[in-house]
Amino acid sequence: MTESPTSRGQAPVRYEVRDRIAWVTLDRPEYRNAQNSAMTYALDEAFTRAVDDDEVAVIVLRGAGDHFCAGHDIGTPGRDVDVEFERKAVLHWSHVGKEGGDLRWARESEVYLGMCRRWREIPKPMIAMVHGACIAGGLMLAWACDFIVASEDAFFSDPVVRMGIPGVEYFAHPWVMNPRAAKEFLFTGDRFSARRALELGMVNQVVPREELEETVTGIAGRIAQMPRFGLALTKKAINQAEDLQGMRAGMDSVFGLHHFAHAHNAETSTDSLAGLDAKAMAERNRQ
Ligand code: ZN
Repeated sequence: MTESPTSRGQAPVRYEVRDRIAWVTLDRPEYRNAQNSAMTYALDEAFTRAVDDDEVAVIVLRGAGDHFCAGHDIGTPGRDVDVEFERKAVLHWSHVGKEGGDLRWARESEVYLGMCRRWREIPKPMIAMVHGACIAGGLMLAWACDFIVASEDAFFSDPVVRMGIPGVEYFAHPWVMNPRAAKEFLFTGDRFSARRALELGMVNQVVPREELEETVTGIAGRIAQMPRFGLALTKKAINQAEDLQGMRAGMDSVFGLHHFAHAHNAETSTDSLAGLDAKAMAERNRQ
C-alpha cells in the first residue's frame, strides 16, 4: 500500500478482507479523511487488489474516525499536488512539470475524473458506507460506488460553487439526484441530510449509526451469494443505461466548464481555486 509521506508515516488507506468482503478504509481521520494524491493512488491499489482476489465478492468503502470524507485535500500538511505517482491507466501525461491549464487538465483527468470513472466500472459490487461528512471530493468517491448506505448523522454537500466552479470534477449531480435538486444542492452549497438524500434516491438506506456496519455487512453478504459473472454483467447493464441517459457525455462537457472556471480563477485571482483554501471554505460554509 502506498505510504503517505506526511501523515505520520501511516498508510492513507487500510485494506482488510473478512467473509468475502473487502473493507477499504480511508484512513486520515485527523484530517477528516481529506483525499490527497497519496490516498487516491492507495485507493486505486486497494481496489485493484480486491478486483484481482477471487475470494472477494463485494467491496465496501468507508472512512475512519468521525467522517467519511471531507473532500479533496486543499489545505492539510499532507497536500501533495506536485508529487508524481506511478500512473497505471495511461489516460494522459503526467502533470508534474507542466504549467497552467495543461497541468490542471492532466492532473484532474487522471486523479479525479479518470480514477472515479474507472472505479465506477470495477466489475464487482461496491458499497459506500457513509457516516458524518461526505463533502465535494467525498461525493465523488461515494457516487462511484453502486450503493450508498448512510447513517442518520451523514450529510452531503458540494460547496465548490463558492470558488466559482460548477461542482466537483465527477459531475454526476443531475443523475444521482434530479436536476432541480442538483441545482438547489449546488446553488446553495447547503448540506443535504441523509434523509433528504434518501428521498431523492441518492442513497439506498439510512440507518442509525450503531447499525451501519451490520446493515452493510448484511447487504454485502446477500450480494456475495450471487454468481460473480452475473453481478459483473448486471452492473455493466445498469451503468450502460445510466450512460445512455447522458451521464458520461454530460460529465465530459461539464469537465470543460470546470476547467474554464479554474482558468478564469487563475487569471483573475491568486490561484485556480479563487484563493480559497480549506479554512476559508469552512468559514464561508458557516456563513
Ligand atoms: Zn478541479
